[in-house]
Amino acid sequence: MSAASEPVYDAIVIGAGPTGLACAIEIQQRDLSVILLEKGCLTNSLYHYPPHMTFFTTPELLEIGNLPMTSLNEKPNRTEALKYYRRVTQYFRLDVRQYERADRIEGQDGDFHVWTSHRVGRTGHHRARKIVLSTGYYDLPNLLDIPGEALSKVMHYYREPHPYWDMDVAVIGGKNSAAIASLELFWAGARVTLIHREPQLSNSIKYWIKPNIENRLKKGEIAGYLSSTVEDITEDCIRVRTPDGEKWLKNDFVFALIGYHPDIEFLRHMGIEFDPATRRPKTNPDTLESDRPGVYLAGVLVAGMHTNEIFIENGRFHGAQIAKDMERRLTGHP
Ligand SMILES: Cc1cc2nc3c(=O)[nH]c(=O)nc-3n(C[C@H](O)[C@H](O)[C@H](O)COP(=O)(O)OP(=O)(O)OC[C@H]3O[C@@H](n4cnc5c(N)ncnc54)[C@H](O)[C@@H]3O)c2cc1C
Repeated sequence: MSAASEPVYDAIVIGAGPTGLACAIEIQQRDLSVILLEKGCLTNSLYHYPPHMTFFTTPELLEIGNLPMTSLNEKPNRTEALKYYRRVTQYFRLDVRQYERADRIEGQDGDFHVWTSHRVGRTGHHRARKIVLSTGYYDLPNLLDIPGEALSKVMHYYREPHPYWDMDVAVIGGKNSAAIASLELFWAGARVTLIHREPQLSNSIKYWIKPNIENRLKKGEIAGYLSSTVEDITEDCIRVRTPDGEKWLKNDFVFALIGYHPDIEFLRHMGIEFDPATRRPKTNPDTLESDRPGVYLAGVLVAGMHTNEIFIENGRFHGAQIAKDMERRLTGHP
């Protein structure tokens, strides 16, 4: 298609997670044209969560576009959430371009060019007046940065416990993900050691999980090393620095579940400025426009390294803030 005949959308939303979908719905409801680019499948991050996970949140707090979400239980599981977001996307007839990654954005407010690559290697190009970035944080795990981390036995994502039955497994971390993985692995018959650098597990662990993990640690059913750090990982062992000195522990697998972070480099290439300490991108708190005019940020991206501040629960409201400003700027509508 020649550049002259190429459609120019009012907006391109990059990332079709819950936040990106909420943004596209709000934009479309204001009669503005919008497409979403998604490098994986619809709600790709949720798809990659542990298959049997249950959300911490009750269904109404995951709703977007005012479409009711229901669940068989008090809290929905991953399968129910995936079904719900598929249904929402169909209902609003959102134009989601799955398996199309946004690689580069050029141009300026009113005339942006987005270069993309498809699953099959083809490249693409789209034009839009405004850009919304809602690329999340789940693609980039925080790293331990220690020798042995690149071994194939070291994982930064936990899915399910079966492969680790009768194995020596170390879980590193002290928040919800580490607590849940430790418990599930223990229940499935793995010999689990939980290692956390702080003197106690995080207070952010959900109230129905915390006593469970604490009791398993107290009884010694799960071995616990607090105020401790893993310093080295080898094929068969890990070296742990503990308050009682250094220990070598027999080990088959390591789950380093110490969080995730947004793709700061991608944002930096887009010319977006950050607070150096928090990596929080500079945004207008009312409109969520970044300091690159015409580029809005939505969802967990807005929190920088403080990824525990924005969830689906609150990130879903960014869509209305952004779309309102976009409408005002594109149509002059107050
Ligand atoms: C195990 C777990 C349980 C959780 N439970 C809850 C809960 O109970 N309640 C709650 O509110 N929150 C929960 N959260 C947090 C919540 O899932 C995230 O805050 C939420 O997914 C953020 O939504 P988002 O749309 O901003 O980002 P994401 O859902 O991460 O979506 C970002 C999307 O952008 C895509 N993308 C990235 N880069 C590109 C690119 N260059 N081009 C195209 N597409 C791109 C990604 O593939 C992804 O689909 C949980 C998180 C985890 C890890």
